Amino acid sequence: MPARETDSQQPMREVVERQLLDDAASTFRTMFERSGTGKAVLNKSGIIVMANEALARLVDMNVREIEGKHSWFEFVAETDRKKAQDYHNLRRSHPGLAPERYEFTLVDQNGGSHDIEINVAVFPGTDLSLLSLIEVTHLKTAQEMGRLTRFAVENAGEAIFWLNEKGAVLYANGAASRLLGYNLGGIMSLTIQDIDIGTPRKEWKKRLTELKQSGSSTWESEYRRKDGRVLPVETILSFIQLGDKHYYWVFARDVSDRVQADVREKQLQSELNLSGRLASVGELAAGVAHEINNPLTGIIGFSERLLRKCADEKMTTDLKRIHSEAQRAAKVVQNLLTFARQRQPKKEPVDVNDIVSESLELREYELRQRGITVITHLGELPCLMADYYQLEQVLVNLIINAEQAMARSGKGDRLIVTTGELDGYIVITVTDNGPGIEPKHLDKLFDPFFTTRADDGGTGLGLSICHGIVMEHGGRISASSELGEGTTFTVSIPLKGGSCPSPEA
Ligand code: ADP
Repeated sequence: MPARETDSQQPMREVVERQLLDDAASTFRTMFERSGTGKAVLNKSGIIVMANEALARLVDMNVREIEGKHSWFEFVAETDRKKAQDYHNLRRSHPGLAPERYEFTLVDQNGGSHDIEINVAVFPGTDLSLLSLIEVTHLKTAQEMGRLTRFAVENAGEAIFWLNEKGAVLYANGAASRLLGYNLGGIMSLTIQDIDIGTPRKEWKKRLTELKQSGSSTWESEYRRKDGRVLPVETILSFIQLGDKHYYWVFARDVSDRVQADVREKQLQSELNLSGRLASVGELAAGVAHEINNPLTGIIGFSERLLRKCADEKMTTDLKRIHSEAQRAAKVVQNLLTFARQRQPKKEPVDVNDIVSESLELREYELRQRGITVITHLGELPCLMADYYQLEQVLVNLIINAEQAMARSGKGDRLIVTTGELDGYIVITVTDNGPGIEPKHLDKLFDPFFTTRADDGGTGLGLSICHGIVMEHGGRISASSELGEGTTFTVSIPLKGGSCPSPEA
């Protein structure tokens, strides 16, 4: 049975309770005053009856100036004031219905504004409430900066990826998905090892580990797009540690234009070298050809005379041999002179399609004999100022080369000739499905005397002559070939090399 309170115990209890209340009050006061959060005790109309230092600092006043003189609404920005009053009333009347935290803009004594998060809690059984204010300006700024950074990254012109420790893509921006031709979901299913094919897969582990030491590294590589195309890229890969998590950050730039420009420059350089070589060989050839021409004319003339006189059969055979070999040599000399002379083209308005048709007609018999099917795709072309016969010489040469390559190898039976206009150039292509050209020979094709047909009367001058003629027209000639598949020669001649007179002129 519980002991009953005696009369003497009553005053002692009051003392203890008062003591407890005093302790609670002093604890509350200490916590209130020392808190880093702005705090105020409000009466029911919102007047601040008690304020702490943190609040005073926030509104840029001192505690005494605030207490009893200001309602907290005065410190709320005018645009938020009504909202603040409603919030305050609702928190007091129906605390469960109002959100625990609310955000307002607070204006300090000097007009400076602060983003703050507020909480109003009612002291049970009193008219008083406790206001707590946390400044979130910096947090908001940081959040805003985060959002702005994200916006900048998402809209950056260069591709950016975040990778996890194993190289799996965690995030990619819009430029990255454009670069690789995937949608964002598609990229997220990839790893850097799938994308960057310029680095062997087994080296990736080592590379990622090394990055943890070096922090960052730059290199050129190749990325594979979704459509299979391979792009040359310049990349920076950096390592970042956040807490105990490891991430990689990749920055990639498509450098196709630069690589193409480099290739073009190399091509120009090699064309320049070739032109230089051709010019010096041309000079030499012209000198030699002249010297040989005279004795050759003598050999041909005298052998013909002897042939007419000779009755001896054996001697006649030998003389015929001398005569035909001398003629063969004369032909070579003639070619040499053509190559060396490379006269200025006599430009006149020409229709390149006419030249193509005429050249094919000239070779029609041989092509038919060899069972070669000819296909033409002749585009609509503007008139070109060019030397008709020189261009015909180029085309006939290319057609004969294709015929001979197919006949010699026994491979190929089709010749396709196309014409078209592209970016201010007339472009002619001659394609065969013959044996193709060995890659190591591709660079030498236009060199004078380069031939793989020496045993078959080849002089190696045909393509050098073509090259010279096309250059004289300000154009370019190139060959592309796949061994065993065939060869395409492309001739491009600029339309701006001279404009055709208008029909009325
Ligand atoms: P030639 O025909 O006297 O050998 P060219 O300068 O015309 O001299 O050609 C040089 C070489 O280029 C040829 O010997 C041949 O090896 C190669 N070539 C040219 N056209 C073709 C072609 N359509 N297919 C394969 N090889 C070719």
